Amino acid sequence: MDNLSNIGVIKDVMQRHGFTFSKALGQNFLVNPSVCPRIAEMGNAKPGFGVIEIGTGVGVLTNELAKRADKVVAIEIDERLIPVLEETLAEHDNVKVINADVMKVDLHKLIEEEFDGLEVAVCANLPYYITSPILMMLLEQRLRIRSVTVMVQKEAGTRLCAPVGTRDMGAVTVAVNYFSKPKILFNVSRGSFMPAPNVDSCVVRFDINDTTPEGVTDEAFFFKMVRAAFSQRRKTLVNSVSAGLGTDKHTVTAAVENSGLGANVRPEQLSMEELVRFSEELKKLT
Ligand code: SAM
Repeated sequence: MDNLSNIGVIKDVMQRHGFTFSKALGQNFLVNPSVCPRIAEMGNAKPGFGVIEIGTGVGVLTNELAKRADKVVAIEIDERLIPVLEETLAEHDNVKVINADVMKVDLHKLIEEEFDGLEVAVCANLPYYITSPILMMLLEQRLRIRSVTVMVQKEAGTRLCAPVGTRDMGAVTVAVNYFSKPKILFNVSRGSFMPAPNVDSCVVRFDINDTTPEGVTDEAFFFKMVRAAFSQRRKTLVNSVSAGLGTDKHTVTAAVENSGLGANVRPEQLSMEELVRFSEELKKLT
């Protein structure tokens, strides 16, 4: 449906299908016609690419992705939207809609089966109740993808894209920078959605790195330590890590010293290299 980005058309389709929004599923649909083409263009929807979309709504972004990419696989949890999508995406023969919870889909298998010979990108206007789990799932699995381009709450975007070693960062910032180069692309006002949420949003792109930081011998331990370090804002590294991991303070203090860090250093002051060094020293002592 080519005029799908028109708010009147979206309302009409929803009404005919008796569709009502589910707040629990984070259903705020885009109704600003200029936003979806920009996400598609900046999100690698282009010839030679297959795109995975997470959360289709009535298919406004799906439609723009299908116009540009070779193939789109769209994953939507709400079965009530499936008949709607059959109508709104009818003109595209390069779209496959899967009715599933994205957290339960085997994405390695999906990529292998659906995108043979294509580069792969992920694009989504994410449901905000589950932004971080979806991002972490996409990054940690080391999928064969080039980029992840997503709409998130503005505040979450600032935190995700904060450089490591700055005040805004959190555990998810470290993870994001470990696997990718994050970048805020543009802001989107709350009035661009129906119903309008009470926060503004932004679109961010994560360009997946070919390699991860050097020197990490145990990735699971590294991320456990990072989660512990950032679980208690503004505490020293020693206090938050010993509380979070249940390791005694003497051991953590020794690891801090062995890494060449100051005794009162705070996690948000550390660079990626320093976090890796500290993690390795701590692992040797535990
Ligand atoms: N892409 C549409 C748009 O821009 O208008 C809809 C975006 S809306 C913010 C998020 C969508 O994700 C909803 O359609 C919702 O039903 C779907 N969703 C929520 N949780 C999901 C999950 N775990 N797996 C797949 N889709 C999900």
